[in-house]
Amino acid sequence: MPRPQRRFELMSWPEVSQAALRPGSTLIWPFGAVEQHGPHLPLATDAVFADRILDAVLSGLNDNDPIWRLPLQSLGFSPEHAGFHGTLSLSADLLLNLVESVGTQLASLGFRRLVLFNAHGGQIALLQTAARQLRSRSPSLAVLPCFLWSGVEGLDQWLSSSELQGGLHAGQAETSLMLSLHPELVGEIRPIDGIHCDGSPASPPTGWSLEGAAPCAWLTTDLSSSGVIGDCSAASAEIGDSLEQALISHWQQRFRSLLDSDWPPVTPVAGAPDGC
Ligand SMILES: [Zn+2]
Repeated sequence: MPRPQRRFELMSWPEVSQAALRPGSTLIWPFGAVEQHGPHLPLATDAVFADRILDAVLSGLNDNDPIWRLPLQSLGFSPEHAGFHGTLSLSADLLLNLVESVGTQLASLGFRRLVLFNAHGGQIALLQTAARQLRSRSPSLAVLPCFLWSGVEGLDQWLSSSELQGGLHAGQAETSLMLSLHPELVGEIRPIDGIHCDGSPASPPTGWSLEGAAPCAWLTTDLSSSGVIGDCSAASAEIGDSLEQALISHWQQRFRSLLDSDWPPVTPVAGAPDGC
């Protein structure tokens, strides 16, 4: 657990106002989801990951770094999983408004940076849109939307290439990480799935893809009858331990470089004479 002083909601109002005015003051807002994760993982899998990995990352930074975390946003945008019981999705509008409403208040306090630390793949694009919208309305606040698993190098040491490409949900990576963090929350049924309900392999039209350059906005029911898209039978706690360390180390480096930077640049006032 990070020191309590790292938690925005545990500070007093004078502490928050002092924190906001420190040079480079940075807030990390963890985002998860409450959505089906196959028959073996809890609905809050992404929320657990965002919360736990962020705490570990922050506890490895220097005590006097100007960085704090906001409370976990555990409900997210998950319409692709609506065909499975237990999924509770916010609307896109609601999530956009939430980020803008909270972000503008943080900007008015004087905070300089807000990282949207997201562990749910289905809301990457929406949080990027929310970040761009917030930044344009509060230019003094840098907004950095990121995805827990993106850009982490070396995952191919532990995950097969087919899982890295097609293990989109509740597969080897997520099941392994949960076996490392909370083995008591992982069930025994471990399907390999990612096929149509009639048993034929699910594949997008030629030239299109599930994700990436030409994605097809799939619904989980297009691909899977269990809710798993991938091979969770290949998961292990050992793989999960390695993934956990890789994620912590990656995000510690990213946050360190952000704290050492002077981002965001000071925005020139439109029409002012150019001082260069
Ligand atoms: Zn997930």
